[in-house]
Amino acid sequence: MPVDATFDILVVGAGGCGLTAAIAAKAQKPDIQVAVLEKADRLMGNTMLSSGSIPAANTRFQRAAGVLDNPKIMIEDLFGISGEHEASEITHQLAIISAELIEWLVDVAHVDMTLVESYKHIGHRVHRLHSPPSRKGADLMHDLHKTAQAMEIPIVYGNAVTQLLTSPEGAVIGVMTKTPDGAITSLASQSVILATNGFAANRELLAKFCPEISNAPYGGSPGSQGEAIIWGMQLGAATVNMGAYQAHASLADPHGSLVTWTVIEKGGIIVDSHGRRFGNETIGYSAFAELELQHEGPFYVICDERVRDVTANGQPEYAELCANGGVFQANDVQALARRLAINESLLSETINQAVEAARAGQPDHFGRLNWGLGPLTAPFCATRITPALFHTQGGLQVDQHARVLRHDGSHIKGLYAGGGAAGGISGFKGAAGYVSGNGLLTALGLGYLAGQSSARELR
Ligand SMILES: Cc1cc2nc3c(=O)[nH]c(=O)nc-3n(C[C@H](O)[C@H](O)[C@H](O)COP(=O)(O)OP(=O)(O)OC[C@H]3O[C@@H](n4cnc5c(N)ncnc54)[C@H](O)[C@@H]3O)c2cc1C
Repeated sequence: MPVDATFDILVVGAGGCGLTAAIAAKAQKPDIQVAVLEKADRLMGNTMLSSGSIPAANTRFQRAAGVLDNPKIMIEDLFGISGEHEASEITHQLAIISAELIEWLVDVAHVDMTLVESYKHIGHRVHRLHSPPSRKGADLMHDLHKTAQAMEIPIVYGNAVTQLLTSPEGAVIGVMTKTPDGAITSLASQSVILATNGFAANRELLAKFCPEISNAPYGGSPGSQGEAIIWGMQLGAATVNMGAYQAHASLADPHGSLVTWTVIEKGGIIVDSHGRRFGNETIGYSAFAELELQHEGPFYVICDERVRDVTANGQPEYAELCANGGVFQANDVQALARRLAINESLLSETINQAVEAARAGQPDHFGRLNWGLGPLTAPFCATRITPALFHTQGGLQVDQHARVLRHDGSHIKGLYAGGGAAGGISGFKGAAGYVSGNGLLTALGLGYLAGQSSARELR
């Protein structure tokens, strides 16, 4: 087949994984030809929508803040939530390189990142999340994009990769792309890095691999159709953890923006349509979403004015939700019950029990021990919420160099994967194995490894 252009490395998908991979490859070997192919007409993957929080152990930012951490503790924390799974060795590898990754992002990729000290989020015993000061993944992406431009890495928008090209020996040697007006191009390369994210926007694949969440609202970008996972499978690649995903228990309804879990961590509670709590909210936003799917909505997250203000102070998306009327306030339980159209005595009983539990200093009957700022006090605040799917965590099996593996453990020559296209580290099934930051750690961590190893292995 005639080839329209030749590159050393082609990256499929201009998200966090793809841009990191391209920059890592080019930083390693500045003279190579690297290009990024993106099906959307602009940067619009899930990384853009995220809060940009990436966990890392023993970074210089943690040391400066006096946080004692190391990969061993991080690995314990990750497995403490996910349990062993089908990509356990990737958990080890990502924790080991996590500090190097964050410092490389700052020093080489010129991403502005700080240690998040106002919250730890689910699963982390110490302050370990690093994110842009704005806590917006869009800023992380803009910094990566600026660096890619400065390195003269072309990002070709509106070019969906439709197929991988292979040699008679089964090595990947390029891709076919298609523009929205039907123009088809054939591009050759020594390596292809799949950075297309997972399949959370593809209801058919969801029904097959993650049926319990397949009808929930999806809070991510439409590009996550899972095609790269299918191409890999067609070439004989193994897949791992296909039933795992990240859900979020508190997407503001109908606003669609995130009610950050900090509201819970500072003492908020979640009630069902009858005004009853139905679980320990501190198990985390992903695991709690699974519980919501088994109960009757609409759901409400209830906090008080102090929790609302402390949270809004550090997190712009929540501050915007407050400013836009998504968090309403009531002077007492009666007014709150009226506003939520919930039975007043039930709601009052629920709030009184939560107040008592926070005072008691021991686990309540759901097992909740942590009440953040302490017992809730009037005036109260509430937001209507819905559980949502954020991204899938299952994908192509990769090794510690992000090379895609076959069932027999051999790697498919020329093929790498990261982010949602690769098997993640959040357990093998369901939402409960997700630890905050697992999505971006897999995206940027495997992107970093894929970029470096693909550049290193060029002939
Ligand atoms: C609202 C929200 C908040 C989140 N917050 C966090 C967080 O704070 N921390 C965390 O760790 N995780 C978070 N996540 C999850 C995280 O965003 C994802 O795990 C991560 O962004 C995946 O990165 P990626 O590079 O694989 O995918 P993306 O950033 O989605 O990039 C994939 C790109 O590939 C393109 N593409 C797809 N198919 C093709 C094709 N055939 N040809 C060309 N291009 C293609 C897509 O258009 C897209 O631009 C969040 C997710 C959501 C939805």
